[in-house]
Amino acid sequence: MTKINIAIDGVSSSGKSTMAKDLAKTIGYIYIDSGAMYRAVTLYCLQNNLINDDNTIDEEKLREQLPNIQIAFELNAETGKPDTYLNGQNVEAEIRGMEVSSLVSPVSAIGFVRKEMVKQQQAMSLKKGVVMDGRDIGTVVFPNAELKIFVTASPELRAKRRVDELRMRGNNDITYEEVLENIKYRDHHDKNRKESPLRKADDAIELDNSTINIEQQLQWAIDMYHKTIGEKNG
Ligand code: C5P
Repeated sequence: MTKINIAIDGVSSSGKSTMAKDLAKTIGYIYIDSGAMYRAVTLYCLQNNLINDDNTIDEEKLREQLPNIQIAFELNAETGKPDTYLNGQNVEAEIRGMEVSSLVSPVSAIGFVRKEMVKQQQAMSLKKGVVMDGRDIGTVVFPNAELKIFVTASPELRAKRRVDELRMRGNNDITYEEVLENIKYRDHHDKNRKESPLRKADDAIELDNSTINIEQQLQWAIDMYHKTIGEKNG
């Protein structure tokens, strides 16, 4: 059976992770959440006092300590989804909180952090059969991916979805306005940073999922996958 790599990029909280996870499960591929890796590095910075008082990152110390940061994914049998591990600890819940969310953009803008994460992401995907989601997957990590998808939706809708997700995890402290502000800030930061800014690859197919539900989005992605495989097999 022909295997390909699938790159799914898009703005924060656009539903690209849901699409990537569901698609990988349906077609029997491995799902890799590249954002979780940047979030894990951010959590490491928080745990090890690498955040300066003005919320900038102590890059010198982070560069020194980068080899100490081991990130892995393990399937959670209960949820059927991979959990993120930082140096052997399950950090899946912690990396989704607001503290990490508000610092992950500056951490992921650091060139040497990106270089290391991209290296690890490419190594995980050598055998193909991977669905990876993020910001630079179609442009930097898999420039030759057979299928590239770029997901968008309005900031307001994305904030509502993220709040619903946080509430489901039992987090009631954060307001919709705070989440919306964080999403707008991350959009701006991700699109305007020097290192691998978020942009749609020229050969990516764009999906605005504002008016479709999760099932319709999944069906659309499955159709794109079959179309790509069909074209590849001639
Ligand atoms: O996808 P998620 O929102 O969890 O990603 C968290 C942050 O990590 C993003 O806001 C972005 O700054 C960064 N990121 C990145 N490159 C990726 C994936 C995520 O810069 N491939």
